[in-house]
Amino acid sequence: MSGEDIVAQPIQNSDTAVRVVFGAAKRMSIAAEVQRIGASKVLVLATPQQSDAALEIAELLGSLAVGVFCKAEMHTPVHVTEAAMAQVAETQTDCLIAIGGGSTTGLGKAIAFRTGLPQIVIPTTYAGSECTPILGQTEKGVKTTLSDPSVLPEVILYDSELVRTLPVPMTVTSALNAMAHAAEALYATNRTGETTAMAIQGLEAFIDGLPRVLSEPSDLVAREATLRGAWACGTVLGRVDMALHHKLCHTLGGAFNLPHAETHAIVLPHAIAYNARAAGRELQPICDLLGGENAGTALHAFAQKMNAPTALRDLGLQQRDLDHAADLATTKPYPNPQPVTRDDIRALLQAAWAGDAPIQ
Ligand code: NAD
Repeated sequence: MSGEDIVAQPIQNSDTAVRVVFGAAKRMSIAAEVQRIGASKVLVLATPQQSDAALEIAELLGSLAVGVFCKAEMHTPVHVTEAAMAQVAETQTDCLIAIGGGSTTGLGKAIAFRTGLPQIVIPTTYAGSECTPILGQTEKGVKTTLSDPSVLPEVILYDSELVRTLPVPMTVTSALNAMAHAAEALYATNRTGETTAMAIQGLEAFIDGLPRVLSEPSDLVAREATLRGAWACGTVLGRVDMALHHKLCHTLGGAFNLPHAETHAIVLPHAIAYNARAAGRELQPICDLLGGENAGTALHAFAQKMNAPTALRDLGLQQRDLDHAADLATTKPYPNPQPVTRDDIRALLQAAWAGDAPIQ
């Protein structure tokens, strides 16, 4: 399986076909990927924590690199994008490489949105942003989200060696973040046979691969299996509408500045148990893969086995914030299998805050 190249199907409303490459040490061929695009002035993007990885890519590129910009931040602040844009202009950058998780990918998308520059993304988490036309940006404390096919990368390069350094706790939360995309894709109103098959494929990759990664975090075969899961889960995130789970996490992240992957990991079993009341049949593949009668409780048991965090209070959320969170999460109606009521969401949040079992 290792080393396979895929040209992914174009997403709806886009003529763009994304080239997807999997394999250990595939980053070594980064110069060839840049040349394939026809570019010669590459700016490499990363967070400060991953500046070594960015410098390695720049070194591999040699004279094709014009610089590195290692100031990517969570939630894509516009002031950071503007600082990067200044470097883009100064160096006449003609291609972006984002190496990192969703935060770095977000910066690459934000620059591409403003400039139309081609992008190569080298994901090092399972968040899946590289597969979606969605761009979230923050300005003066307000996060807005847009969807535009122009922010999709030209190339995604999944190198299992790079995800090997992802710390185990983040491996677990990032995996559950990816699984959340697939779980909600199962009941999306605009799902197709193809998206459902991909969602199941993504869930299976993590349910099978994550325990193997945890028993040996540097197992490259298991790491690649989980990266393939991340691609499948990210792809369905980009193709169908998300519902309660993603709305709740967006609210909690935006209003209370909770960390992205951890919040997804904690909320997932609760949101899925809530929706299993109305979408038990659609969620059956999760029970088939994990065992059990309820997809939410099955995910809860899986998360516990993986030592995932289980309580929002451990992320610093205060109990007094739950009323406000429930209000925020229920002001704007959206399609969801189980009707969303303020009282039910308040109860769900209470259980997720305390680390209780999901309410069925
Ligand atoms: P992240 O990108 O914020 O990374 C978290 C930390 O882990 C960073 O310091 C990063 O440098 C470090 N890190 C990442 N990979 C590493 C590795 N392999 N080894 C060591 N350290 C590593 O986290 P994330 O969960 O990937 O992304 C979260 C952000 O992505 C959020 O802002 C979220 O909104 C966004 N996101 C967007 C979409 C979308 O479709 N637009 C989808 C998913 C997530």
